[in-house]
Amino acid sequence: MKLVDAHCHFDFPQFDGKRSQELAIAAENGVVGLVIPGVRRSDWGRVQSTAQAFPGLYYCLGIHPWFVEKSSSEDLDALKAALAKRSELCVGVGECGLDRLRGNMGIQLPWFEAQINLASEVDCPLVIHSVRAHDEVHAALRRANWSGRALVHGFSGSYQQASKLVDLGCYVGVGGIITHPRAQKTRDTIARLPLETLVLETDAPDMAPDGVKPGANSPVYLRRILESLCDLRNEPVGEVSSVLFSNTELLYGQSLW
Ligand SMILES: [Zn+2]
Repeated sequence: MKLVDAHCHFDFPQFDGKRSQELAIAAENGVVGLVIPGVRRSDWGRVQSTAQAFPGLYYCLGIHPWFVEKSSSEDLDALKAALAKRSELCVGVGECGLDRLRGNMGIQLPWFEAQINLASEVDCPLVIHSVRAHDEVHAALRRANWSGRALVHGFSGSYQQASKLVDLGCYVGVGGIITHPRAQKTRDTIARLPLETLVLETDAPDMAPDGVKPGANSPVYLRRILESLCDLRNEPVGEVSSVLFSNTELLYGQSLW
C-alpha cells in the first residue's frame, strides 16, 4: 500500500528534532511521501529545505489567507519569481484561498485571485484553503476560467458544495475531520463523493484526528484517516488506497512516488 499525505505542514517547528522518526513510523504505516504547502514568504526557504532533506517530500509555494494582511505586493512578485525558477520538488501553488472565520475575506480575495492566475501561468496545481467560503472560492475559480488541477484541502461542508467544486475539476482533501463522530455532514459528504475525487491528507500538525491532542497531528495518522474513510464508505482498504494514490499523482504529477 502506498499512501501520500497530500497536505502536511512538515516544515513547522512542531516537527523539529523528530522528522526522521515521524517519517519512519509513517512509512511503517504505508506513507511514501508528503507535500508541504507554503503559507508565507518568510517560510518558503524552510518549506524547500525540509522537502530537500528527505526522499518522497515535495512542496508548494504560496501565501495563506491568514497571512495576507502581513504580506506585500513584493511578496507576490517574489512568489512569481520563485515559481518561474522552481525546482522539480516544487509541485504546486498554495496554500491560498479564503477563510470566513479568520481575517477579512474582502482583503483575502485579491490575493487568492492573483495566485489562481499565477498557477494558471505556470501550469501548476492550486492548493486551496476554504473555510466557510466554498461558494466564494467556486465563484473566484469560475471568474478566472480555471481549468487546471486543484485541491480543496481539509474539506468540511455539504455534498452540494463539494460537488460544485468537483465539477470544476477540484480534488477534495480528506483529513482528520472525518474521524470525529460529530462531523456528520462532512462524513456524509465524503461517503457520497466519487472515490476518484478524493485525496488523503493530515494538515498536520493541525486538524488532529479523533483521540489525538490538538496540535499534535502527524503524518503517522494518515493510515487512521484512510481506515475511517473505508469504514464510512464500506469499501476495502486496498482498493481505496490505490485509487487515492493515483488521484494524488493526477493532482501533483506522475511518478513522484
Ligand atoms: Zn494547511
